[in-house]
Amino acid sequence: MITSSAPPIDTPVPLRIGTDGEIDGATRVYRKYLGDLGGVYYDAAAYDQHVGEQGRDLLVYYVHEHSYQSGPGALVVGTSTLLPGVVGEEYALTRGHLHERADRAELYHCLRGHGVMLLDTIDGQSTAIELRAGDAVNVPGHWVHRSVNIGDEPFTTLFSYNADAGQDYELIARAGGMKTLILRDGSGWRQVPNPKHTGYERGGA
Ligand code: ZN
Repeated sequence: MITSSAPPIDTPVPLRIGTDGEIDGATRVYRKYLGDLGGVYYDAAAYDQHVGEQGRDLLVYYVHEHSYQSGPGALVVGTSTLLPGVVGEEYALTRGHLHERADRAELYHCLRGHGVMLLDTIDGQSTAIELRAGDAVNVPGHWVHRSVNIGDEPFTTLFSYNADAGQDYELIARAGGMKTLILRDGSGWRQVPNPKHTGYERGGA
C-alpha cells in the first residue's frame, strides 16, 4: 500500500481573457462600487457629492482572478478593470494595498486604456508609472500599489502574484492615503503631494 503526503499536482487550465477583462475560467469575481470607497478619495466633500449624484451602486472597478491553490509556489492570475471617472479632481482609483508578505512582487500588464500605477514605500519613496496597452510594470516587493485611471475608457491590467502574498488594505487608510495624488490637469494629469498623508506604519497604530 502506497501512502504519500505529497501534494496533488494541479492541472494546467487555459484561460481566455475577453475584451472587457472577463476571464473564462475565473475562480473568483468581485466588484467595487462607489459606496465601498468611502475615505479612499482625498476630497471627502467631492466624494459625498459624487455619491449623491451617481449613487452608491455605481460600479468603479471589477476583478476577475484565477487561483488553483494557495501555497507559495502558486500564482494568482487576474485582471483588474477600472472604469473612467473623477471625484473632485482626483482620477478614479483602486483601494490599493501592500502585500501582507511585503516582499512579494507583482506583475501588471496593461491590456487597454490609460492609467498610472501609483507606488509608495513604507520609508517614504513614491513614484507613478504611466501605462498604456502593451506596457507592463514589475512591482517589486515592499511597494504599496494602487491603479489610477487617467483616461476616458476602462483601464484593464492583467496581474500576477504569488498566492501566499496576501493584501493589507488598511495600511493606506491609516496613513491618510498614499503619499501622492493623481489629479486631472486639463485633459492630462499631474501628481501632487497628498497633504493628508501622515506616513506609513505597519501593524496598526
Ligand atoms: Zn498587489
